Amino acid sequence: MTFIEKKEIGDGQFLYQLQILSDNYTYVLTWDQNALVVDPGEADPILDLLEKEQLNLVNILVTHYHDDHTGGIEALTKKTECHVIGPDDSRVPKLEQSVAEGEELVIGPFQIEVFSTPGHTKPHLVYFFRALHLLFSGDLLFTGGCGRLFEGTPQEMWNSLEKVLALPDDTLVYCGHEYTVKNLEFALSVDPDNEALKKRLEEAKKRRSEGKSTVPSTLAEEKVTNPFLRVKSQEFQKALGLSDTDPALTFAHIRQLKDESSS
Ligand SMILES: [Zn+2]
Repeated sequence: MTFIEKKEIGDGQFLYQLQILSDNYTYVLTWDQNALVVDPGEADPILDLLEKEQLNLVNILVTHYHDDHTGGIEALTKKTECHVIGPDDSRVPKLEQSVAEGEELVIGPFQIEVFSTPGHTKPHLVYFFRALHLLFSGDLLFTGGCGRLFEGTPQEMWNSLEKVLALPDDTLVYCGHEYTVKNLEFALSVDPDNEALKKRLEEAKKRRSEGKSTVPSTLAEEKVTNPFLRVKSQEFQKALGLSDTDPALTFAHIRQLKDESSS
């Protein structure tokens, strides 16, 4: 069963959040009778939505090449006239337009800023809808965590996360997976005295037990409770038994602990 949440984001503009595969999210943004989709890991739920709402798919935006973010592209490009935009990576299927750091896309009513955020994969992009404060963070930043480093170094990943940290606090973080509870359980293991974190974990567990999504979060919440965004904090470094350490080294340390805890 695909979980669908529909939210009005502007006059006649909607954001649909679809749960696909086992724990992935894909997002469909609409205006008039047009649509763009972010990270279609699967085609059928999107095709069903397009048909039901009588929408014309104009664009696909891709954060990175992984199959659970691009598996639906082949079928969607066959059945619609959509145009695929993503990172300059030959592993992205049917890519027609590559974009990079600092570029701005205008699609329908949306102005979309592109950030280059390597680390999980190389390349990897995130998309920021500046007027709406919506961030589609792919597998860079998760709610309560971050992506694994398959292709980048801890320094590269930290530099990428710092770009996100510079966005407004009320930015809504729409990430690629529903991993919040597991992420926050790990976070608490390295940050056990963080009261805001304890509270957030309880809320996330409650939402999941009610069958609800824990995505999006706000960047303000992430700054306080996501250990991968707290690596600059002296207090947090101390709790880890580190002091005055380079943020990228602190990042590498907790990323390794997380990898070991989930294997
Ligand atoms: Zn991925």
